[in-house]
Amino acid sequence: MTPRSANVVVIGGGVNGTSVAMHLARMGAGKVVLVEKGHLAGGASGRSGAMVREHYLHPTLVKMAMEASDIFHNFGDAIGGDARFIQTGRMLFFGERDADAARANVEMNRELGVDIQTLKPSEVARIVPQADLDDIALGVYEPNSGYADPMATTYAYADQARNNGAEILTGCAVTEIKTVGGRVAAVQTEDGLIETDAVIAAVGPWVNKLAAPLGEFLPVTPIRVQMVHLRRPPSLESLDVNVIDYTTGAYFRVDAGHNTLVGGEEWDDLSEVVNPDAFGLNADHDTITRFWDRARLRFPDFHAATQRGGYGSLYDMTPDGNPILDKSPNVEGLYWATGFSGHGFKLSPVVGRMVAEFVLHGNSSDHPIHEFRAARFDEGDLLEAEHPYQGRRHQ
Ligand SMILES: Cc1cc2nc3c(=O)[nH]c(=O)nc-3n(C[C@H](O)[C@H](O)[C@H](O)COP(=O)(O)OP(=O)(O)OC[C@H]3O[C@@H](n4cnc5c(N)ncnc54)[C@H](O)[C@@H]3O)c2cc1C
Repeated sequence: MTPRSANVVVIGGGVNGTSVAMHLARMGAGKVVLVEKGHLAGGASGRSGAMVREHYLHPTLVKMAMEASDIFHNFGDAIGGDARFIQTGRMLFFGERDADAARANVEMNRELGVDIQTLKPSEVARIVPQADLDDIALGVYEPNSGYADPMATTYAYADQARNNGAEILTGCAVTEIKTVGGRVAAVQTEDGLIETDAVIAAVGPWVNKLAAPLGEFLPVTPIRVQMVHLRRPPSLESLDVNVIDYTTGAYFRVDAGHNTLVGGEEWDDLSEVVNPDAFGLNADHDTITRFWDRARLRFPDFHAATQRGGYGSLYDMTPDGNPILDKSPNVEGLYWATGFSGHGFKLSPVVGRMVAEFVLHGNSSDHPIHEFRAARFDEGDLLEAEHPYQGRRHQ
């Protein structure tokens, strides 16, 4: 039965909504209710590559990613449950075009304490001997990186939220955020009204469906992205490092059973604006071919891979490729945690804590949450890299 009231309602049962709910419940926010329209991890979270890395191009994100990476390495103690994190290491390939930027970013990351280094092609070849490195100017290697299971992670947050008294409702959409006198009064769900004076909308690309009736618009665009599944041939079975190729824009995420997930992050790969309620859930034939071509370009033995199809999913893109963690300027008690732009999985344990602190105490205790305010787009104060890589929509 739908509760009639709550101290805080979190809308959205992805990694970020469940993490926010868990942190709120742990911090003693009173009665916390999470409302999810489908099932937990049913949005981008369940289809995530779930790669965990520390290398970022902006110091705030580096520091958040370092804290998050520590949590994934010690998930049972830090959160409880099992995110099924697997440490693979992560190799980045750069051509001449981005080599100077890569050196500058590695220096900045190292100064902040990230275990990361630049490698000459001959050194890269020792770690990734399967790759054709002819056009590679340098590699960047992050040994602590890896990937987790995004569904297990979401359910772990949800379990811990419940253990701390939160209630989680699935199959129940919020149809309206109700306000009285400029502040949140309730959420209208498909199963009834929940009175509350605090709402956090962690609804990914659906955010403007809830914001628009309140006269707000967040610059979050639903972009369809695709992931292709290749079964590696025996000569590539030993390829057990995640690889990001900044020359072709392809990335390669190790998967169980000698499989590799291949994704693309060139500008063209992130340009299909869709309706988040009606988009192609399977990969397109031409994308499978295109990504397979990119895989063969870097790892020639992929020509003998078996392609096993792929899937479509959503990025909630913002103009600077970074999230919006903010409160509404018009409605007191309403908060947004959205716009994760294709890299919000790894940040989830830290984002959850920051947003919970923001709601309960008006600020986050360490990382500067104001850098993620929505107004940065109008103010021209974007969260951007000093040394960006070319042709990338998020860094
Ligand atoms: C193919 C792919 C690969 C990725 N790889 C990585 C990676 O390697 N590393 C990384 O860090 N990140 C990665 N990401 C990004 C990461 O997965 C997302 O940023 C993250 O999962 C977003 O989580 P979320 O909780 O914010 O949103 P979502 O998972 O989208 O959850 C939002 C939820 O809100 C619910 N909802 C919406 N409207 C309502 C409503 N009105 N009422 C109730 N519920 C509602 C939805 O049903 C949904 O479950 C990848 C994403 C994709 C698609």
